[in-house]
Amino acid sequence: MSSDLPVGGPSEDAVHAALATVIDPELRRPITELGMLDTVSVEGATVRIRVLLTIAGCPLRDTIVQDTEAALSAVPGVGRVEVDLGVMDQEQRDALKERLKGAGGRRGIPFNDPGSLTRVYAVASGKGGVGKSSVTVNLAVAMAAQGLRVGIVDADVYGFSVPALMGITQQPTRVDELILPPVAHDVKVISIGMFVEGNQPISWRGPMLHRALEQFLTDVYFGDLDVLFLDLPPGTGDIAISVAQLLPTSELLVVTTPQGAAADVAERAGAMAAQTGQGVAGVIENMSWLESPDGTRLDLFGSGGGGAVAGRLTATLGIDIPLLGSIPLDVALRQGGDDGVPLVLDHLASRAGIELVRIAGALARRPRGLDGLRLNVTPR
Ligand code: ADP
Repeated sequence: MSSDLPVGGPSEDAVHAALATVIDPELRRPITELGMLDTVSVEGATVRIRVLLTIAGCPLRDTIVQDTEAALSAVPGVGRVEVDLGVMDQEQRDALKERLKGAGGRRGIPFNDPGSLTRVYAVASGKGGVGKSSVTVNLAVAMAAQGLRVGIVDADVYGFSVPALMGITQQPTRVDELILPPVAHDVKVISIGMFVEGNQPISWRGPMLHRALEQFLTDVYFGDLDVLFLDLPPGTGDIAISVAQLLPTSELLVVTTPQGAAADVAERAGAMAAQTGQGVAGVIENMSWLESPDGTRLDLFGSGGGGAVAGRLTATLGIDIPLLGSIPLDVALRQGGDDGVPLVLDHLASRAGIELVRIAGALARRPRGLDGLRLNVTPR
């Protein structure tokens, strides 16, 4: 890097400090830490900078240019900013990957590292259409708004609804074998649907799904996350069992409606958790009631399902499984899903919004510690 500092121009330190605030939109780290800064030169009040993109067709190149221009323009003494774009060569890309994976190029699923502090919640439901994906995206966005680093893996191979619920149309960027997830509403999102031609439902069998999920969890670069959500397909099928095996510290979050069939859901989720040793963080009841204009509550889908599931799970597993909350029916929640803008972003004062934010806060504060961790000790 070269720099000339004429009297009256911006100081080199100030230019650097400004560049360190430019965050790569996908990698979520300053461009100065990613080897993306090629050259910087200052001539009078003009700063010329060359930024290296990870790949030629980087979809977010305009964002990087705008953010760089904005950061540099704010530096005292800068009158003009010229940003030139280049592309990393293989050696530079290898260095970047090394930096992202940690020294030695970590293999395997990062969330299983002994030092990982990421809480992993696998969101399950007994059947489709109960609002599992809607709840997942709202909890994730609410946590991100609370300042947490959050990711979602859409593992609902038959439904892939998370990208649409989050308003994502962008494809993930690939840096060789590394996959960079698109970011929406401050949440990193990857969906099996992003790797399927024309969003066709997948008809893979169990072992293929297991391998696909494993590759996903290994190759997608999420960086350090506080919380990772996995949106599971409905039921307790192959994917749910794969998740329990691939991410032994993940905990189940069961979403159910107030309807009577709930006991069945609890039975299956409980049996799975008991079999795989997976922890259960709790139960969320969705579509709990509909508020009529006069304020009375209509139990459209019956009542008590969430409490019944939590009670049955508590009995099956022998530990207290809480009902974390009950979310009412809300047209704005459905509308937010259709628009790709989760309800918690702009309907905070609604009952559903308040409840989702409260549950997100409770889940974010749960002590991770040894919760949900299988201890490799045998009692004597
Ligand atoms: P699942 O992931 O369980 O299949 P979805 O999250 O896709 O369910 O939700 C199914 C449908 O129900 C969607 O159209 C969604 O907008 C709607 N929905 C979910 N929860 C609510 C709610 N609390 N109020 C109104 N509509 C809801």
